[in-house]
Amino acid sequence: MTKKIFKALCLVAFTVFLASVVLIMAVLYGYFSRVQQTQLRMQTQLAAQGVELGGMAYFDGMDVRDYRITWIDRDGSVLYDSDADSDAMANHLEREEVQKALANGFGESHRYSSTLMARFLYTAQRLSDGTVLRLAIAQNTVLTMLLGVGQGFAAVIVLALILSVLLARRLSRRIVQPLNEVDLDRPLANEGYEEIAPLLYRLDNQQRQLRAQAEQLELDMAEKAEAERMRREFTANVSHELKTPLQTISGYAELIENGVAKPEDVRPFAGKICAESQRMIQLVSDVISLSHLDEGMGDMRFEDTDLYGVAGAVVRDLQAKADKAGVTLALTGGPAPMSAIPQLAHSIVFNLCDNAIKYNREGGHMTVDAHREGTDAVLTVTDDGIGIPAEQQERIFERFYRVDKSRSKAIGGTGLGLSIVKHAALVLGANIRLQSEVGKGTAVTVRFPPRNDD
Ligand code: ADP
Repeated sequence: MTKKIFKALCLVAFTVFLASVVLIMAVLYGYFSRVQQTQLRMQTQLAAQGVELGGMAYFDGMDVRDYRITWIDRDGSVLYDSDADSDAMANHLEREEVQKALANGFGESHRYSSTLMARFLYTAQRLSDGTVLRLAIAQNTVLTMLLGVGQGFAAVIVLALILSVLLARRLSRRIVQPLNEVDLDRPLANEGYEEIAPLLYRLDNQQRQLRAQAEQLELDMAEKAEAERMRREFTANVSHELKTPLQTISGYAELIENGVAKPEDVRPFAGKICAESQRMIQLVSDVISLSHLDEGMGDMRFEDTDLYGVAGAVVRDLQAKADKAGVTLALTGGPAPMSAIPQLAHSIVFNLCDNAIKYNREGGHMTVDAHREGTDAVLTVTDDGIGIPAEQQERIFERFYRVDKSRSKAIGGTGLGLSIVKHAALVLGANIRLQSEVGKGTAVTVRFPPRNDD
């Protein structure tokens, strides 16, 4: 680019220079020609006066270098000529300037002389005796003028050329420099040509988009890696959780099979096998629920659901279990219509109520309340059971996290109930609030705001 600009600048400089030279020459040529002509006129007048006074004697010893003086008689014969032998010369009467001088007293003309290969200016004046005095001078040609100013002019030309090349080089570098110095990493920080501002804006925009995309990609990859890690951890946990009951079952079954178990032991052993199997069934069913949730619930649709109705059904289902645990159940509130996936709403209510019974004490209470609050449907499950230590209240929603592992296992817990609640709430757009105090009890509130597309 620098080269291109340099060439263009040189071309412009040369052209302008050449044009100026030609123009100046033309003006000078015109000017010098006029000067020459005026001088010739004056010389003619002076010579005419000289001849008028001295006659032929005027020409004695005359030394004219550039001029040619001719004295022409009335009949056209040449009386005197400074250049050639006057007798040998042709009759000069027809010459234009002579004709004019004879007619008007003064005449001028110019002609090209092929013998001398030059243009001549002629000035003729009629003397008082009727003869004509004529002066001629070879007119300056452009070439002679150039030769005259030759050396000086050549020096100026060379100087001008060198100067224009130097200036062109400097200028082209100066023009290109801001472009070379553009900081492409920070396009908007550049102060250069406003002509390239749109380009820089575009560059900046694209860079920002690229950065955002890169960040998003990084985020996505981190998310993916985390999901992958959690999945592996979950699989390991599930396998571990399944292994323990299977070992127990297989142990008792072996005792019965080998006949080691006494006949009266068979029933309690079978009971243990049954309980462990139940736990496994519960675990597998929880895992299936979670994987359904992970997959986004497939084809399950949102339907008009009454939260109070769901709560009533759950209370009925859990009544027997509560009786067995010595926990009193109560249902309060009223109609709480909302849009939800019924299975998920049931899952939430069931798991919360199940926990309120499991982590309670003999003679304890559980209250389920469902009601409408403004546009929201609100569920609250309260118990006066064992409570949850403050520092673990966050963690109990994690998969397989239990405050007291042995108690949870003893009462058939899987450690997945609350993670199902959390995930289902996420799908339904509900939020969960937990309040709990060790020894006093727990209250879990789930608020279902209306869905956006309702
Ligand atoms: P689990 O199958 O063990 O009940 P959850 O995910 O339902 O698994 O609960 C996780 C842990 O949170 C439970 O093991 C228990 O320690 C604690 N927890 C849950 N609900 C209550 C509650 N209402 N009162 C006291 N502790 C609770």
